[in-house]
Amino acid sequence: MNKEEIEHIRADFPILNEKIYNKDLIYFDNAATTQKPRCVVEKIEYAYFHLNANIHRGVHYLSLKATEAHEAARLIAAKFLHAEKKEEIVFTRGTTESINLVAFSFGEAFCSAGDEVVISAMEHHSNIVPWQMLCERKAMKLRVIPVSENGELDMTAYSSLLNKKTRIVSVTHVSNVLGSINPVKEIIQIAHEKNIPVLIDGAQAVPHLAVDVQELDADFYVFSGHKIYGPTGIGVLYGKEKWLNAIPPYQGGGEMISTVTFEKTTYSELPFKFEAGTPDYVGSTALAEALRYVDQIGLDKIAAYENELLRYAEQRLKEIENIHIIGTAKNKSSVLSFLVDGIHPYDIGMLLDKLGIAVRTGHHCAQPIMDVYGIPGTVRASFAFYNTKEEIDRFTEALKKVVNMLK
Ligand code: PMP
Repeated sequence: MNKEEIEHIRADFPILNEKIYNKDLIYFDNAATTQKPRCVVEKIEYAYFHLNANIHRGVHYLSLKATEAHEAARLIAAKFLHAEKKEEIVFTRGTTESINLVAFSFGEAFCSAGDEVVISAMEHHSNIVPWQMLCERKAMKLRVIPVSENGELDMTAYSSLLNKKTRIVSVTHVSNVLGSINPVKEIIQIAHEKNIPVLIDGAQAVPHLAVDVQELDADFYVFSGHKIYGPTGIGVLYGKEKWLNAIPPYQGGGEMISTVTFEKTTYSELPFKFEAGTPDYVGSTALAEALRYVDQIGLDKIAAYENELLRYAEQRLKEIENIHIIGTAKNKSSVLSFLVDGIHPYDIGMLLDKLGIAVRTGHHCAQPIMDVYGIPGTVRASFAFYNTKEEIDRFTEALKKVVNMLK
């Protein structure tokens, strides 16, 4: 993308003009959440001002319009992931809820004492804890794929972890700490040879690379709206129809039933069986707008530009003495975690903030991978398509200053 295009894009994000302590904001915390383009915020306003009514049950005009918008959003999400059918898209509150749903419902249908779940050492807590809870509930065992020094999954170890007791594999597409892009197609293929289904945590992948769930042959694929320029509180669970039909509902309530008597309740068809209660139809509508926005720029273009930013930042950071990049996988997304010898990441983050630069510090909700590396946390800069090389220059100079102050 050229300078003009980036400026054009930046103009869509009013928050990028904010002053932080009187300094121009540099927002490098995109892996935690992304900023929102004007069209997404306007869509929320439009939905509340022009089509607000409870969906799926009203016969009146507004209710039909709101229902149409929610279902149109489902179709857009399905197309975005290249799902075969829109019924395979369930709206949730986000990645965390999507994984909890699968861990619970799949666990109820297919897991029992002695069975095993395979995850990796680089998972976010939201792809660890729900499986641990399942393991506790059902007396099962959690098995963990090790990660190499540079941040790649040990695929030989992975293959040898799979056995007759393995019920499901759940791994991240892209690590939120290391930036590693995992070979998920191969992971799925290997599991499928043994008839084991696979869930892919796409929270850090969908904003940066085009995903085709059919091509991957993923059984479940999940992501959060807020990490892809959409609103908070809305997310997606993609599940193959055969799996979603085979597992029980996660929550009971309105919308998810077909008939209710005190003796017996029958459940609604897909995807409504998994959307108990009034769904976030405003969120889904605004998420669809975000997906449209991303699509319009084009994920291939986004990936190429963000990769350029990553490589540029890696080069520039080499100018800083005693810096160590954590996560140097061959295939990486635009996440740059680092440490400087003798300086706590928190101190670096605090001082960068005073210079108007937002980065993340800490364990990034992935304590186990910190233990693997034997570190307390990292400083993490994560880039989006609205970031620029000029911002990386300012960041590098600020970091030099901060390191000098702290050493
Ligand atoms: N998985 C990964 C890889 C993540 O980066 C995150 C968010 N940091 C999550 C899951 C959880 O996402 P959410 O909090 O939106 O549910």
